[in-house]
Amino acid sequence: MGETTVDRRDERISMLSSIPFFTMHLLPFLAFFTGLRWWDALIFFVLYYVRMTALTAGYHRYFSHRTYKVNRLVQFLIAFTGGAAAQKGALWWAGHHRHHHKYSDMDEDIHSPTKRGFWWSHCGWILCRKYDATRFDLIPDFAKYPELRFINKFHLLPPILVGTATFFLGYALGGTASAWAALLFGFFGSTVLLYHVTFMINSLAHVFGNRRYATRDTSRNNLILSLLAGGEGWHNNHHHYMASANQAFRWWEIDTSFYLIKLASFVGLTWDVRKVPKHMMEKHLIRNGEADIGMFEKHWQNALLALENARSKTGEMYGERRKELDALIAATKAKVEEIARLASGPEPVGGDGAQ
Ligand SMILES: [Zn+2]
Ligand SMILES: [Zn+2]
Repeated sequence: MGETTVDRRDERISMLSSIPFFTMHLLPFLAFFTGLRWWDALIFFVLYYVRMTALTAGYHRYFSHRTYKVNRLVQFLIAFTGGAAAQKGALWWAGHHRHHHKYSDMDEDIHSPTKRGFWWSHCGWILCRKYDATRFDLIPDFAKYPELRFINKFHLLPPILVGTATFFLGYALGGTASAWAALLFGFFGSTVLLYHVTFMINSLAHVFGNRRYATRDTSRNNLILSLLAGGEGWHNNHHHYMASANQAFRWWEIDTSFYLIKLASFVGLTWDVRKVPKHMMEKHLIRNGEADIGMFEKHWQNALLALENARSKTGEMYGERRKELDALIAATKAKVEEIARLASGPEPVGGDGAQ
């Protein structure tokens, strides 16, 4: 690997295309002018929960990892409902997510807080035009469905339809002021919360929490995130074995998205629900002394950065000695990367989940 081969010169946040995103954060506050009624809280909660589940159980566990099967109509409904969260189409979302698993916390990872900083991993990459395109090369299994390509292309259609429906629902319940409150608070408010909860899985779930499994990345298990994001906070479990529909590997780990997938299987809406095999549950446990290569790499990188900062301050003072130091650092870095590669094995644990 050596030096990074990723070109980051064109990774700039586009101010123009970021306007809708930032404006949306202000819209719920306009509800101060319309006032709120009890049903606005209910609309907020239902829109949050239904769309969040479509993202976690649908965009993530179905489209990105194929952890269970559904029929073509349900597949489209999942894509539509997830699409209503205004996080682009399922093909776009899942394609980029597969890329994340392939290169977690490596130079190529688009949203690694270790490599690119917290805010970039949280929402910087979303606001960068470079990643606007769908990675059709990474999602050929679903890109073959024309209805999914259609909704992926016209990804604003579901949020516009659901937003309009929310407006009319508010109107039916209490007139004009209620209609605006339902739209501004109920729809836009829950959409903004959905953004940040989803983004936190990319940022916070790689920074805060516990690590049970030694993985090549910095993923964590975080109870609060799991409660907010329907079980997605068990992110270290997920990176350890991504081909499983359940991300909670212990009875006490709450995973509402999985409960729903399981419940749906009883009435035949989902089938072939994949679970983590028992032997994988006990593999690569840090408490058993497994070398935690993901964290080792992260700390090594921090140490290297500190070393490089210190070195740059010394200027040319040391002459030959500095050259020797440079060579030693480069050789050690290459060795560490080689160890990391060998330790993580030829394939990421759990496969790409796309089989
Ligand atoms: Zn995933
Ligand atoms: Zn991750």
